[in-house]
Amino acid sequence: MDIARERDVLGRVPRGLLIGGSWREGTALFAVEDPATGEVIAEVVDATAADAIAALDAAAGAQDGWAAVAPRARGEILRRTYELLTERVDDLALLMTLEMGKPVAESKAEIAYAADFFRWFAEEAVRIDGRWTTSPAGGARLLVMRQPVGPCLFVTPWNFPTAMGARKIAPAIAAGCTMVCKPAELTPLSMLALAAILAEAGLPPGVLNVVTTTRPGDVAGAVLADHRLRKLSFTGSTPVGRRLMAQAADNVLRVSMELGGNAPFLVFDDADLEAAVDGAVIAKMRNGGEACTAANRFLVQRSVADEFARLLTQRLAAMKVGRGTEEGVQVGPLIDAKQRTKVVQLVDDALGRGAKALTGGSSLDGPGYFFAPTVLSGVDPESRLLQQEIFGPVAPVVVFEDEADGIAAANDTDFGLVAYVFTQGLDRALRVAEALQTGMVGLNQGMVSNAAAPFGGVKQSGVGREGGAEGIDEYLSTKYVAVRLA
Ligand code: NAD
Repeated sequence: MDIARERDVLGRVPRGLLIGGSWREGTALFAVEDPATGEVIAEVVDATAADAIAALDAAAGAQDGWAAVAPRARGEILRRTYELLTERVDDLALLMTLEMGKPVAESKAEIAYAADFFRWFAEEAVRIDGRWTTSPAGGARLLVMRQPVGPCLFVTPWNFPTAMGARKIAPAIAAGCTMVCKPAELTPLSMLALAAILAEAGLPPGVLNVVTTTRPGDVAGAVLADHRLRKLSFTGSTPVGRRLMAQAADNVLRVSMELGGNAPFLVFDDADLEAAVDGAVIAKMRNGGEACTAANRFLVQRSVADEFARLLTQRLAAMKVGRGTEEGVQVGPLIDAKQRTKVVQLVDDALGRGAKALTGGSSLDGPGYFFAPTVLSGVDPESRLLQQEIFGPVAPVVVFEDEADGIAAANDTDFGLVAYVFTQGLDRALRVAEALQTGMVGLNQGMVSNAAAPFGGVKQSGVGREGGAEGIDEYLSTKYVAVRLA
């Protein structure tokens, strides 16, 4: 542990609220913890509803001027942000690990992923198009243009503290929108560091405003009730998303919702089992299992189920657990005591219904919120961990008989974010990919995230897409002008 470097990196993060281009002090502060030790590593300003309205004042005030900035100039700010993030990846990754816990190598991968959204939308900023057509009856012409939606509110989670903000901020900047961003209270530092980089890259005052708070309901509620707001984009749990959608309905806001998942990971009898296990380790263990895309249910065809569980157990049992700053660590702590208690309860429920822990199964002693990488076999279909997000390093293996059974089990959930499918049969792969009720499918691979692809879910996993050509649409309104041509 290099304490001097950790202090230096922490010491360089702004602690105030970013409102209208200046960092504001507040009357109260709140503490940020290192989940690997439980120690306080920083204190940041605890914003009130009045601070949030001041941030919206700044965003609303900057909106017209920002929309008028040339697309290329907006794109160049995004490109510079990509370059600064890439240049400073080591410090930003350490900062992320200190507040969120994931191993530094994974934090670096997240910074690279986040940076990619800035690069991608730098390129999309200059491709906002419209159309000009002749009315079917002749005579009139139809002019269709796309304009920025207007001031946005962004609410983001703690599990990917930089990337979840980047997926919203980059397309909003590209489209010409201004914004108020409220990061999760467990991980505010990465967002503050990103905001400082955007300012350094030339983003004008007021375009991005950041409020950190322990009262997300009050802060978001005040902004949502204000008629100047035009859009809400939220990434987080389905219950909070549902509540925010209801609040957004009062002012008929545009909404994008990236919510929870319950990803099935299907392994068919014709799969390359080694590749399936490699994919399973990524789909389950990336981010310590604390990902909306985490494989939550391993559905394996009967003839290969024991062998798959054996190979997966070997891999998970060998993973090194520890503070994410330590050399060779592959699994960090869970985010806090509450999350760990939830994982313990879900595993105990499955064990109580007859499941067997092939490895792990419990918390690890000592400071921090560690839980052992776990594989469970013989999981009863009624077990709670098959119905809700585990958000931890726990892999339940469930057997299915044939293709129809596997698909039915995969779709037997209210969620529909992503599914993973391992098979070497081309027809089967395409049949199953079509039949799955999800927004995304990983075919013979355990990860789908890519700035160039439309990320998002169906059913109770959300509405809207982030990334790809679709990502900027969320920040554009369509206007049609009926043109009479004499
Ligand atoms: P959460 O819903 O508890 O919190 C998310 C954000 O909402 C935080 O900033 C929090 O402060 C804020 N919040 C909480 N209560 C609020 C309220 N009443 N009003 C306004 N804001 C409120 O989720 P979390 O625990 O931070 O994140 C984990 C969840 O996020 C998981 O369910 C995960 O699946 C989901 N997630 C989804 C995606 C996706 O793209 N679909 C990506 C990452 C995480």
